[in-house]
Amino acid sequence: MSSTHLSSSSAGEPPRIVVLGSLNMDIVLRVPHAPAAGETLLGRSVAHIPGGKGANQAVSCAREGGRVAMIGCVGNDAHGRALREALTQDGIDTTSLRTDGAEPTGTALILVEDGGQNRIVIVPGANAQVEIDEAALRQQLQGAAFLVTQFETPMDQVAGAISVAHDAGCKVLLNPSPVQPIAEPLWPCIDTLVVNEIEAHALCGQAADSPQEAALAGQALRAKGVARVVVTLGARGAVAIDADGARHHPAPKVKAVDTTAAGDTFLGALAVALSEGQSFDEAVRLGIRAAALCIQQPGAQPSIPQRDAVLHSPMPPDWIAL
Ligand code: ADP
Repeated sequence: MSSTHLSSSSAGEPPRIVVLGSLNMDIVLRVPHAPAAGETLLGRSVAHIPGGKGANQAVSCAREGGRVAMIGCVGNDAHGRALREALTQDGIDTTSLRTDGAEPTGTALILVEDGGQNRIVIVPGANAQVEIDEAALRQQLQGAAFLVTQFETPMDQVAGAISVAHDAGCKVLLNPSPVQPIAEPLWPCIDTLVVNEIEAHALCGQAADSPQEAALAGQALRAKGVARVVVTLGARGAVAIDADGARHHPAPKVKAVDTTAAGDTFLGALAVALSEGQSFDEAVRLGIRAAALCIQQPGAQPSIPQRDAVLHSPMPPDWIAL
């Protein structure tokens, strides 16, 4: 950590985190079953819930106590205004959240069948219009502990932002989802990579289905130049991989109601804990506890817990060296 990061933590100030990413309005339709071609169906309910990976991760960072600024783009419509307002309610700085005049706000249409099966259609809309202002970003990253980003906004802009952050000495936490190849020069610019088993496999060509396999896949990803890797394994928790080796962090046993935003919740808790100077393993453990609370509530942003609730939640089992 640079002296700037240390001084902000030691002064007891919340760590600053800049999140670049997507915002979607999730339109959740509860249906008895998915309609067949040509079928008209009566749904059970409809809910509009703020979501999108970027916004979810920003909210998770803020609820964990981070001081967060969001870079993204919404449309000039009611959904865009609602998403901006949702971030503001969490104390997130939306100065760099642009409103595009032409494209609608990103939308995710989510059909949830009685059996719990999900069918999702995402229309990126304004998320595809995100453009980085390099000079403004450089300034924003001064004194920030992390740039947090994903792949739901245009790849060239995300890659540009990662390079700027690396140049400016700001650590990068990347969640490469939906997964796409990462250009070779970008790998050493990434401090912490958070992937699920599918993303790990796609990026290194090795299966990551068990903790042992995830440990090997994580080492293969580190060999590309990343300092630390977390492979999340759903109900089995996560594997943390760094220069000291690999540790399996089991998740607590809880009843999953809806796993939407579990990975985003995990990532926010991880980012803030790392920014506070907590160890990698302690940060992963906090992420696991936060995600366990998230999956016990329905929806994306409404299910993301506050730090207090996470600290009062049961401790997961001890981690196991692999
Ligand atoms: P993604 O949704 O990105 O694929 P995962 O499914 O791996 O991510 O979930 C992210 C984290 O959420 C996991 O590492 C784990 O801590 C937590 N989690 C997900 N599903 C469960 C579950 N059924 N029980 C307990 N924790 C879970």
